[in-house]
Amino acid sequence: VTAISRPAAAQPAADISAYQGVWVYIEQFAGQARNVGLELLGEGRKLAEAMGQRLAAVVIGDGIEPLAGELFASGADKVYVVEGAEYRHYSTDAYTAALTDLIDTYKPAVILMGATNDGRDLGPRVACRVGTGLTADCTSLGIDEETGLVAWTRPAFGGNIMATILCPNHRPQMGTVRPNVFKRPVPDSTRRGELVRVAGKIKPQDIRTQLIEILSVSDTAACNLEEAQFIVAGGRGLGASGNFALIEELASVLGGAVGASRAAVEAGWKPAIHQVGQTGKTVAPKVYIACGISGAIQHLAGMSTSDIIIAINKDADAPIFKSANFGIVGDVLEVLPVLIEEIKKI
Ligand code: FAD
Repeated sequence: VTAISRPAAAQPAADISAYQGVWVYIEQFAGQARNVGLELLGEGRKLAEAMGQRLAAVVIGDGIEPLAGELFASGADKVYVVEGAEYRHYSTDAYTAALTDLIDTYKPAVILMGATNDGRDLGPRVACRVGTGLTADCTSLGIDEETGLVAWTRPAFGGNIMATILCPNHRPQMGTVRPNVFKRPVPDSTRRGELVRVAGKIKPQDIRTQLIEILSVSDTAACNLEEAQFIVAGGRGLGASGNFALIEELASVLGGAVGASRAAVEAGWKPAIHQVGQTGKTVAPKVYIACGISGAIQHLAGMSTSDIIIAINKDADAPIFKSANFGIVGDVLEVLPVLIEEIKKI
């Protein structure tokens, strides 16, 4: 079901024609662009071409100007860089101020951001500051033929309908998009563009939170599903919470992340942050190993673009085998220990 929402604004924003161009906010960590920003450059390029406009990337941080080359290669015509020590780590105050200033000055028509922890914090706050709306957690983007507006599509009502949202009366049109729903564009290192350095205006005393120390990144690696190359996911077929230790061990041997079906999450075997699927995360690793997962359509919605899918299930007729490149029919509690031992030998 598709619901088209065309809300009539009480007061149309003044002169929306002044807003031009498609922007992609590039999230970075330690000077590396997160995949989602690059994925959105590919999609942003399509939107910009369909709208006859230019594509710009926006990156905020410290020592991040060298990223510009990669952003041009991935499709940006222009890169806005806001640099400074106060932007070294993500902070809501500093990044909101920087992005809001950029929008007020340069007036983009569209802004795409990743639906990551940072994007979900930054996007709504900036949208509110500049007086526009935001469609959160989109899973597809397009152009509405009737109006030429960006059509933002996202699951609604617990995933039971797909709603397409338009933003007719305010600018910029803003949305966050789930990681891994689009493929990264193939970089073209011959592409060049315009670099715009913008001085951030925030004063250190206006930043109300301070990152004191990063204690550990190991736990986040285990549930960093969106960037993982290998994911081992467990479902109801594991039978008990304690059996997830096998999933964790295989994920650790492969240097990958741990996923879970909704049934496993609802059973309390894994926190919701691990859920893969329509109402969980969308993932696209090189290898996805589904253990004791039946392959319901809502689970497949979150992992079917994985390069290689391996399924372990005791039921030879389980639907997951229709999507799997390799299948093992057997008891997951017997197969996993053997698999772990064999992989350890490599
Ligand atoms: P089951 O469907 O119960 O499958 C368990 C499988 O394990 C079976 O195939 C069985 O043969 C196998 N098995 C049992 N014992 C063993 C054993 N010892 N060894 C090997 N195999 C064994 N689900 C998601 O995962 N993610 C979502 O985001 C999501 N969103 C949803 C949104 C909506 C609106 C709705 C209605 C549902 C959603 N669901 C989602 C739920 C989805 O429909 C399924 O109910 C769920 O994916 C089932 O999880 P499962 O495969 O672990 O369990």
